[in-house]
Amino acid sequence: MTQADPIPEESPLDCALGFYHSAADRLGLDDGMRDVLANCKRELSVSFPVQMDDGSLRVFHGYRVHHNETRGPVKGGLRYSPAVSMDDVRALAMWMTWKCAIVGLPFGGAKGGVTVDPRALSTGELERLTRRFGTEIGFLIGPERDIPAPDMGTDSQTMAWLMDTFSMNRGYSVPAAVTGKPISIGGSAGRDGATGRGVFLVAQEACRDRGVSLEGARVAVQGFGKVGSAAARLFDAFGAVVAVSDSHGGIYSEHGLDDIEAILARKREEGCLPADHPGEHITNDELLGLPVDILVPAALEGQIHGGNADSVQAKIVIEGANGPTTCAADPILTEKGIYVVPDILANAGGVIVSYFEWVQDLQSFFWAEDQINRRLERMIKASYQEVAAVAERDGSTMRDAAYKVGVGRVVEATRQRGIFP
Ligand code: NAD
Repeated sequence: MTQADPIPEESPLDCALGFYHSAADRLGLDDGMRDVLANCKRELSVSFPVQMDDGSLRVFHGYRVHHNETRGPVKGGLRYSPAVSMDDVRALAMWMTWKCAIVGLPFGGAKGGVTVDPRALSTGELERLTRRFGTEIGFLIGPERDIPAPDMGTDSQTMAWLMDTFSMNRGYSVPAAVTGKPISIGGSAGRDGATGRGVFLVAQEACRDRGVSLEGARVAVQGFGKVGSAAARLFDAFGAVVAVSDSHGGIYSEHGLDDIEAILARKREEGCLPADHPGEHITNDELLGLPVDILVPAALEGQIHGGNADSVQAKIVIEGANGPTTCAADPILTEKGIYVVPDILANAGGVIVSYFEWVQDLQSFFWAEDQINRRLERMIKASYQEVAAVAERDGSTMRDAAYKVGVGRVVEATRQRGIFP
């Protein structure tokens, strides 16, 4: 390739399959098993009308995909984004399968999405869209089958509408059908910030392993949504956050951003980062290339790609988002000596606490927040240590080790169950 050649773009599905096939090579999977896990077991695509506030009808397209249910009912978020496609949902469902296996949850992987910009709809329109989509996919979901949760563009309110819709269609309340709900209807303490907390806990482990002191470390967080803002608040306790960003761009201050709480409050009120906050205003690409100790991509897929990976200067990358690093970028980061904790481990805190929520709902017995946080910490740190031990033994990256553990566990379960009939 010459300098003028454009970098070929990799879709999330290209990346998910690329990382999977490289794990399948290292595990020596035969063609049959390789093929079973490369494919999604069940896929539903729906088109459905929603009555808009002005009385007009608009048709939306939505998806729900079950990648693999060998280890248990499937679990995965629901994304509302104008960019979401069936292929993206397939990739995200596959990542959920490996993630649940790595942290030892009795779940397979799923994902769903609706192609919509939630910011362009009123609350009433969003509620009608969610209830209609929930009804369209209703025959796939349920506590023993498929348990949705929030992802990009959805939140606890979306999950409340979904849980209510599922329950109304059944004729009785089924709180365990959905996680990430408000606490008043069977949600779990600690779920809201759980993915960000998991990112922070994994960063603590990575810093210890790499001899980086978290006290005073410079941290940049791309994406200031549910995951990024929760992680930033925890890093901020160490006075370490130098940059944050959202879809419009970022704010950077070499010596640390003042008052993360105030930035969060303004973001909630105004829908974007405050333009007048002290600091330098930077682009998302500039944020990724800042001279920091820890970089947390917590926005979208494919942000660190073949075209910009060489500019990353962080010592440690903790992947809060799903698929933020492409297959082309991954070896460049490794070559530069950057320690990457991959998405399928680093952002597992959300699904771990979703598992706790599901267990609490099934038992109708709820735990205190400090108990949830302690259990989350134990589980995610133990998973980190397991993956780190495999990386150490194999002399591999954390990503290769995580895929080896995750895919390996699903292969083992598939062999033990056998192939039906
Ligand atoms: P969110 O909708 O709450 O926030 C997304 C944030 O990313 C917003 O601040 C948005 O402005 C920003 N953003 C969008 N496009 C951007 C761009 N081009 N550059 C920079 N920022 C951009 O979503 P979330 O739930 O925080 O999810 C973020 C990522 O984490 C996604 O990849 C999601 O799949 C993953 N994830 C989420 C959870 C969860 O529990 N919510 C769990 C695991 C993984």
